[in-house]
Amino acid sequence: MNRVGKWSWLLIVMAVFLLVFLTGCHGGTLTQPDGKVPAGAGSPLTVKVLDVGQGDAILIRTKDQVALIDTGDVPAREKLISMLKSEGITTIDKLIITHPHADHMGGAAAIFEQFTVKQVYDSGQKTNSNLYKQYLTQIKKKNIPFTVVAAGMTIDLGGETLLKVLAPEQPFIGGSDSDLNNNSVVTKLVYKNFSLLLTGDAEAQAEERMLKRDAAGLKSTLLKSGHHGSNTSSSVPFLQAVKPEAALISLGANNEYHHPHPSTLKKYKENKIKIYRTDTDGTLTVASDGNTYTITKER
Ligand SMILES: [Zn+2]
Repeated sequence: MNRVGKWSWLLIVMAVFLLVFLTGCHGGTLTQPDGKVPAGAGSPLTVKVLDVGQGDAILIRTKDQVALIDTGDVPAREKLISMLKSEGITTIDKLIITHPHADHMGGAAAIFEQFTVKQVYDSGQKTNSNLYKQYLTQIKKKNIPFTVVAAGMTIDLGGETLLKVLAPEQPFIGGSDSDLNNNSVVTKLVYKNFSLLLTGDAEAQAEERMLKRDAAGLKSTLLKSGHHGSNTSSSVPFLQAVKPEAALISLGANNEYHHPHPSTLKKYKENKIKIYRTDTDGTLTVASDGNTYTITKER
């Protein structure tokens, strides 16, 4: 082969590589049925605090995995399923149920029916509710690996993203206004320099315990507001340790619990924490490259 021939071959090989690379990138952008590109698409980490009304359902997508923290309440299950399907999701690698209240596990049965769930994590708290029994039955029937988490554990979400478990701790908190809330699974989502504290419905007693355990470890870029912005959570010492730039509140419009509490909103304002809320803003999409982040409101 002469000199010119060698160079032409090299050019062809490079052109093929470039074509494959560009096609691959294009294929990575998800388009919804209506032709819109979902908020956060293409970001290495996307977190969506889904607008499921009164309740929590938080979708986390890394380069490698899909995780869901809580499943909203029973009446919102169809909405949840359609939101996940419009994201092109068929498999949920990790499902985390923070605690067995209906507004967090109400959609679990529908999730098990509609998606392949590879692993379930929960707080280890048991109740006598039919919802909880149904949840356990389905996990067993479908043979889904099931882990009870505790402070100190880490859940790897791939793509350099970790969920560090900060609560609950044994023995469980007892004798509080809501022990089920207080023993919620609390995790800190960490991707490089970005972090988001996901508190379930942990109340002041749980916050106090986490402060004693590792106050410095609570510091996070953003906070998913505890217990739907209720005055039972977001104590001042806790907020000062977390020092979030913004709080994301998951709640339904005109909910019967009157969440969020005006005193909580006041505390956020006094501590210069920006407020985002699903009842007025719709689904909140957080996208991060590990250094910076954006928060996009649905409306
Ligand atoms: Zn709740």
